[in-house]
Amino acid sequence: MTDYYPRQSKLKTGLHCDCPRCGESNLCDGLLTVRERCPVRDFENAYLNSSDGTDFIIIVFCSALVLEAIAHMQPFKA
Ligand SMILES: [Zn+2]
Repeated sequence: MTDYYPRQSKLKTGLHCDCPRCGESNLCDGLLTVRERCPVRDFENAYLNSSDGTDFIIIVFCSALVLEAIAHMQPFKA
């Protein structure tokens, strides 16, 4: 197996969640789980694992939206 791979656009692969090396397969298995190996060219993607970082960001972002929605549902009292 060769380690050569063509340079991919970071914006394109990031927005499409494609493999950052070959750009031909989906990087994630599910919503947040990063595949350990590329299923097309067998590149190793284990170095991309962000642990709980993405989970934390999504939880904080969704919590802010939910709290804002709850604040707007409260009746105003004079
Ligand atoms: Zn790949």
